[in-house]
Amino acid sequence: MLLSAGDDGHWADIRPGAAAPAQAEVLAGPVLPGLVDAHSHAFQRAFAGLSERRDSAQDDFWSWRDRMYRVALRITPEQLRAVAAMLYAELLRGGYTQVCEFHYLQHDVDGQPYADPLALSWALADAAGDAGIGLTMLPVLYERAGFTRPTLRDDQRRFATDAAAVHALQRGLARSGRPLLNAGVAIHSLRAAAPASIARLLDGLGEVPIHIHVAEQTAEVDDCLQATGQRPIDWLASHADLDARWQLVHATHATMAEIDAVARSGAGVVICPSTEGNLGDGLADLPGWLQAGVPMAIGSDSHVTRAWPEELRWLEYGQRLRLRQRNVSAAPADGEPSTAARLFGRALSAGGTAAGFGRWGLSVGARADLLVLDTQDTNLLALPVDRLLDALVFSNPSQPFRDVMVAGRWALREHQPTGGGIAARFAGAMHALWDLA
Ligand SMILES: [Zn+2]
Repeated sequence: MLLSAGDDGHWADIRPGAAAPAQAEVLAGPVLPGLVDAHSHAFQRAFAGLSERRDSAQDDFWSWRDRMYRVALRITPEQLRAVAAMLYAELLRGGYTQVCEFHYLQHDVDGQPYADPLALSWALADAAGDAGIGLTMLPVLYERAGFTRPTLRDDQRRFATDAAAVHALQRGLARSGRPLLNAGVAIHSLRAAAPASIARLLDGLGEVPIHIHVAEQTAEVDDCLQATGQRPIDWLASHADLDARWQLVHATHATMAEIDAVARSGAGVVICPSTEGNLGDGLADLPGWLQAGVPMAIGSDSHVTRAWPEELRWLEYGQRLRLRQRNVSAAPADGEPSTAARLFGRALSAGGTAAGFGRWGLSVGARADLLVLDTQDTNLLALPVDRLLDALVFSNPSQPFRDVMVAGRWALREHQPTGGGIAARFAGAMHALWDLA
């Protein structure tokens, strides 16, 4: 297979069986397209592994959130860049070449705006540049603490935005001219934004991705029912004019009628299996979403896992445990007998849409991204090529991707990031954040 990237960083030609020109580079192993990590809060990487001890009688999503806010309230732009650069290098190593940042940290620690309202957004964009990953920034509409709490809590002061502010942030990012950066918008959740504000945000928005957390927690479903008489996905489907720009993040607690409504709308869902497991959110109705043909991307969200093979494994294992069956996601009648291939194929195309790309993957006109498998990894060694994707997801390779290309350039070579000093800067930021020194 001869893959030719143009000077614009996109695939110019893909030709099976062509003779390699003299200057062609011979890749070290079989190739897969890169995936989009469709849901990230980069600052939460500073918290991974540090919230795994119970220190109160009740430990659930809401107590976790209180602890997470303590990081959110302290982190500086410099620390955010250092933490995010480490995360992004890890995401490349985990087979992602693009990440969608659901970005709600906007203001200084005291809640006052920075001189440049995009200060923390640039920290993330700089981090993406340090690591060499593509970045979709999604500035978040976040204006209240709950359906019946019209203002933010004091510990949410860094998040405050209204529709006009989100428009301005989105335009500033979209016009930056930075390579590998694009921008859409996000709504934190129905509990965090009033219907009128959501309507203002959508007014004249254009063809950009619109992401929203929805139905992650049963308490949120109950609150929404009480406030509006409808479940959150039901409310969105009947009030928000959903279409293919929309990405419903988590969508954990959905009825069949809600799944059908999303399927009719063209909107996608973004499932975050490792985080949903870590936070005890519940299990999405994976067979329901797959059967309905809803685009389904994956996200690493709080970053307790930073590799897509592990996300896909958790996605399937949750259902096997729930249903006491194997290969729940496979569809042999549709010519898709491989669980891994079906989930990967869905995450590939839906991820591209979630990040705002019309074309994504190994096709002419798409960005020239690819992953080179390390078939010397003992978990992939001596397997037939047509089983490598199955083994990648279900046989636990530790470092399966030897080289990773983004826009025609190597971002990872022989497992090492091409940007230097990332781990040292991360360690410095972690010491400062946690007073570990
Ligand atoms: Zn999230």
